[in-house]
Amino acid sequence: MRVRFAPSPTGFLHIGGARTALFNWMYARSQNGKFILRIEDTDLERSKKEYLDEILDSMQWLGLQWDELYKQSDRFPIYREYAQKLLGEDKAYKDGEAIILKMSAPPIVPPLSERRGETSPPADLDANKAADGGPLQIIKWFDLIRGEITFDASEIKDQVLMKSDGSPTYSFACVVDDALMEISCVIRGEDHISNTPKQLALYHSLGFKPPKFAHLPLIMGEEGGRMSKRHGATAVTEYRKMGFLPEAVVNYLMLLGWSPGNNQEIVKMATALKNFSIKKINKAGAAFSMEKLEWINSQYIKQTDTAALVALLRPLLAQRGWADENFDSAKLENIVNLFKARMTTLQDFFYWGEFLFVDPITIDSEARVQYLSQDRAKEFKLLGERLREIPEFNAASAESVFRELVAKLGIASSELVHPVRVALTGKSVGPGLFETMAVLGKDRTVKRLSETVFHG
Ligand code: GLU
Repeated sequence: MRVRFAPSPTGFLHIGGARTALFNWMYARSQNGKFILRIEDTDLERSKKEYLDEILDSMQWLGLQWDELYKQSDRFPIYREYAQKLLGEDKAYKDGEAIILKMSAPPIVPPLSERRGETSPPADLDANKAADGGPLQIIKWFDLIRGEITFDASEIKDQVLMKSDGSPTYSFACVVDDALMEISCVIRGEDHISNTPKQLALYHSLGFKPPKFAHLPLIMGEEGGRMSKRHGATAVTEYRKMGFLPEAVVNYLMLLGWSPGNNQEIVKMATALKNFSIKKINKAGAAFSMEKLEWINSQYIKQTDTAALVALLRPLLAQRGWADENFDSAKLENIVNLFKARMTTLQDFFYWGEFLFVDPITIDSEARVQYLSQDRAKEFKLLGERLREIPEFNAASAESVFRELVAKLGIASSELVHPVRVALTGKSVGPGLFETMAVLGKDRTVKRLSETVFHG
């Protein structure tokens, strides 16, 4: 069993492309087959090295390791050889420097006995001929996802195999390679359905046995229509930059058109591979939901070891100049633990954690109006003095000092909790106030209280 993912390096790896790659990879891994990555860079002008590098990088980031890698630009002599063969057999003709396939080539009729009783019939050219014995009329195949698909062969015109600049066309290179690479099943996006009859005609002319085909439903944007840049990020790298974890992206992508059953949403790869089957893929388009992806990512963040999150965050912290490699790991772990439950993406860490790395803090203007309008200077001063006296400063000792003070002052603790939180963090919401104080440390807590400016 051999499958392939065949991206063109004319753009970044798209989220839809990543799902195609994932289903191919899962199929290979679940069947003990081989997963081939084939770079379709025959368009020399539009193919760019930066895109190729990015595609390989994104594939690796997602954990979709390939078993074999090919680049079509290394294989031009092979395509030329097959085009010459078709010329020699009079199945193709020349037009200037271009080589073109004749669509009137007579079909080879596969014996019926070979076509019966197969669990999943291979794609086939139909044996029908026009009454006058002319060109074949119908091209059909049994799609593993969509069932039988039929095309009127007379719609298919002579097709260019080799362009006058010596490069092969997409379909020609694709068919030659799928045949030579012994691909057993072509799994690709539904946008390629219309290419399949042309390609079947090519298999037929070349005398190759066609593979099985499975055309995946498209990924739709949240407001319907094909997912596009208008609906937000489409490139895998953008999700990486936004702070999604690769395991979460993979988990989300596998649910676009497939389900392991019983409405499970957080799916371990090992479980997914046990249940995976092409035939269970939905043929209806799958709608992309950022909200669901975010939810899945937040679940993965919660499940990830704090030390592992710290390792992922360190380079990002260094990039921002917030913490270098000498920043104490135990301290970083405490900070990450404080926000872990609130993080939807890794980037959220920088939103929640800013007050721990940046001095002076910026105070959210709404929070300032709501909680720092009333003058609490006296209470802040008392609290600061008492906190300073604590010999062992931690969440519990800070809390008991705080509770004693509000009792003594005869005010509700909420009257002080919110202003103090805003003064320490710049935000009106966040994790528990005393855990926050403990992570911020005694000195900075006391200092921020004493420097708070109230606006009456
Ligand atoms: N290079 C084509 C693409 O990027 C591959 C299509 C196929 O899988 O045959 O869409």
